[in-house]
Amino acid sequence: MKNLFSFTLIILSLSSFSQQPHRCYTHEAMLEFETSHPGYLQGVDEVFYRAKQNGSQDRSTVYTIPVVVHIVYNTPEENLPDSVIFNQIEILNEDYRRLNEDTTNLRDTFQTIVGDSFIEFQLAMFDPNGNPTTGITRTSTTQTSFLGVGGMPAEGVKSDANGGIDPWDQSRYLNIWVCDMSLFGSPFLLGYATPPADLPHWPAGSTDGMSDGVVIQYEAFGSNNPNALDLGAGPITVLGRTTVHEVGHYLGLRHIWGDGDCTAEDGIDDTPNAVDQSNQDCNLTANTCTDNIGVLGDLPDMVENYMDYSAETCQNSFTLGQVDMMRAILENERFDLINGNPAIGFEESNLSQVKIYPNPSNGNFVIEGLTEEVSVVSIYSNNGNLVNTITAAKPQLEISNLSAGIYFISVQNDESVEVKKIVVL
Ligand SMILES: [Zn+2]
Repeated sequence: MKNLFSFTLIILSLSSFSQQPHRCYTHEAMLEFETSHPGYLQGVDEVFYRAKQNGSQDRSTVYTIPVVVHIVYNTPEENLPDSVIFNQIEILNEDYRRLNEDTTNLRDTFQTIVGDSFIEFQLAMFDPNGNPTTGITRTSTTQTSFLGVGGMPAEGVKSDANGGIDPWDQSRYLNIWVCDMSLFGSPFLLGYATPPADLPHWPAGSTDGMSDGVVIQYEAFGSNNPNALDLGAGPITVLGRTTVHEVGHYLGLRHIWGDGDCTAEDGIDDTPNAVDQSNQDCNLTANTCTDNIGVLGDLPDMVENYMDYSAETCQNSFTLGQVDMMRAILENERFDLINGNPAIGFEESNLSQVKIYPNPSNGNFVIEGLTEEVSVVSIYSNNGNLVNTITAAKPQLEISNLSAGIYFISVQNDESVEVKKIVVL
């Protein structure tokens, strides 16, 4: 626990990006923000210790975080298709619910300390004005890169005034901006995020400094990205885990090596310490620091952890200590995200017997669980236009030949109304 937050300012040199882009600038961005908002780091530390002290008592209630993805593009390649965004949300859900197939690659020695976070992600169904939304915004920009002086994140992507787009209410939405942060035409960093700082919401002065959310280099988003980083034989394979890592920061996690040597650590009891980032390799024999993980004793460096810099191909797990930290942050500092959030609408709130399947579909799907009395089924396009209305007095309805897109299905009867989002591929 010693020197937990002994931050070391990293001086960037242009030569450092010539081989591989930086995986994550959360730490550097936090240091930068401290210079403009003194006391910020202390605020983060206090939240972190409070969360650790409180811990989460509950490891099984599913928390759903509404997400808005802001695509800010200067070129057609940067304007990633919806399919990449849907895929990224799927990857988040798989990895945070531990449904990813590669958990089988986890070494036996770590099996007892990892787990399902029971945290899920859903593209927002309603925007801050209460209107139906896809949870995706698209902004054309004249900015060719959102990198600032010295390679620091410039934050312009987070404001209309600087060629980006203002965040949606950060207490109700996880804002993820996807843009280009290249330097001299080469990818420079893959992402950064803001851990929660101080209560109730942060940051003070969010329009003139780092604004709450996650920013991802467009080439590192999703696992089906047609413009995924191509670094030849380099170790970076884009599997959508840059976003998994950055959302971990957003939920309070630190790098497992503690951004320092063996005397620094991440403050999570069950993550093995390491002398440094794993340098993007998948070295299964490294054990660079001696630590004491309860009955397990000293464990090797955990390259399987999402909060390392190991290659995305060897990451597959969060530890239970990390799960407890993220859930504690959601139960406290980010409580409004998961507490009766209108951003994810009425789903499962009243007419939860209504089921729509398959979803996504090819345009043909079934709405099941209607009442015997009259129900009005309305289909809205993603910009809120009414596509069709069907009045039915039977428990099941078949819909066919809907063209590709995102729709909102409203099911209304005398007692209640429920809105569900469906995707037609
Ligand atoms: Zn990071």
